[in-house]
Amino acid sequence: MSTSNIEEAISILQESQHLVVFTGAGVSTESGIPDFRSPGGIWDRYDPMDFTIQAFRNDPVAYWERRLEMRAEQEFEWSDIEPNAAHRAIADLGQAEPFNWLITQNVDGLHQDAGSNPENILELHGTRRKAKCMGCDRRMDTGVLERKLEQEPLPPRCDSCDGLLKRATVSFGESLPRDVLTTSREASTSCDCFLVVGSSLSVEPAASLPRVAARNGAELVIINLTETPVDHLARVVIGEKAGDVVPPIVEGALENEE
Ligand code: NAD
Repeated sequence: MSTSNIEEAISILQESQHLVVFTGAGVSTESGIPDFRSPGGIWDRYDPMDFTIQAFRNDPVAYWERRLEMRAEQEFEWSDIEPNAAHRAIADLGQAEPFNWLITQNVDGLHQDAGSNPENILELHGTRRKAKCMGCDRRMDTGVLERKLEQEPLPPRCDSCDGLLKRATVSFGESLPRDVLTTSREASTSCDCFLVVGSSLSVEPAASLPRVAARNGAELVIINLTETPVDHLARVVIGEKAGDVVPPIVEGALENEE
């Protein structure tokens, strides 16, 4: 672990008045949820084209069959998943010095479980903890969807309008929630430090946010196991596990503040 990089990240965080933390699937791998693009990740085992919004619309029964098959094969139970040290450190950072926003591409809800203030969290790709009706746009707890998946013929349908139900996550080909994206862009434009944790920065438009931040003068700090396309714009790049480096960085930043 490079101590000088950690020290530099600490001093950038200390100097920051408007911090944005941006997370991706890599912040949750140490909780046991595979990411998409690491070796052995989800796209090594499944075809992303089967999970687009078009695939859902074309054949919702086949879509749900594939989803349920994927769940039967997965090596973890969602109910066993807990936040890890990186999620907890990010929550500590938010509590000690409220940062503007925690922008996440994740749909797992682990930042909320770790204690980050839900009002500060921008879930760019939605959440798997809710379901939505594609007909009337009604939101409901995921338990409603789960019951239907267990007890009713596929595809699950809305009790109000008979529309198709889907998890409240953004599938490939589906638009991001406009208000969340607008606020994320504004936050990225006005922050002075943009801290990336665990993202390949390869999914647009999410991946454009660190570029927006850097272009507007923010210091970019990237913590990611593998290279990203914007590493050259960053002041500090740390290629280590989030659970190993985020806690000491946060601890250092908060310690020196007192
Ligand atoms: P990604 O799979 O494209 O990239 C993850 C990155 O994290 C990789 O570059 C990998 O090297 C890095 N990484 C893995 N483990 C790490 C660790 N312990 N510490 C530091 N870095 C680590 O994921 P992405 O950039 O978030 O974008 C892809 C999409 O994945 C997003 O749309 C997101 O919605 C979705 N996704 C979410 C979850 C989740 O909610 N937990 C899980 C899988 C995929």
